[in-house]
Amino acid sequence: MYLEDIKITFMQSCIADSKKIRFKAKFSRDISEILPYLNSVLKDAIYNKNALSLTLRKEFRIITLHSNMLAVSKAVNETDAYEIIDFIKKLINNTYENKEKINPLYEMRSKPSVVEIYNHLPKLNCKKCGEATCLAFASKLLSGEQNIKRCLHIYESHNKESLDWMKDFLQVFGC
Ligand code: SF4
Repeated sequence: MYLEDIKITFMQSCIADSKKIRFKAKFSRDISEILPYLNSVLKDAIYNKNALSLTLRKEFRIITLHSNMLAVSKAVNETDAYEIIDFIKKLINNTYENKEKINPLYEMRSKPSVVEIYNHLPKLNCKKCGEATCLAFASKLLSGEQNIKRCLHIYESHNKESLDWMKDFLQVFGC
């Protein structure tokens, strides 16, 4: 078997949602050669060839694979953590077994557009974040020059869905 084992090394409550957990786990071998193949197979994954990491979503869970370990946030509980580990182990081993039939993809998929980010902002143009418009804020968020915490309105309860989307996007793309 290509990847024999994945061992949990860290487990704690999520910072943003204390009802969910985040954890890290170590691979029994370096899997960096498989990352471009996984990038090809998983159409929604984000591959960062410089950092040698690949981030994917499993429903609301966010899973980042590195050469020697994985980091997961928003897992439901410990049982869910072990199910995720089984899922990732199977995914890596199946991809390895089929790698002769897969064209590896070494490029990073594109980030969401400014408009897509803007569509998840409150669109009040209130300037409280220091930007003249929500669109300008979206643009700076994408380039990493702004912090979502500067938009107080997105933390209002009726914007929860947008805030969740935004946090996922920021985590996946590391903006
Ligand atoms: S604080 Fe939020 S709602 Fe107000 S302009 Fe900035 S991004 Fe838009």
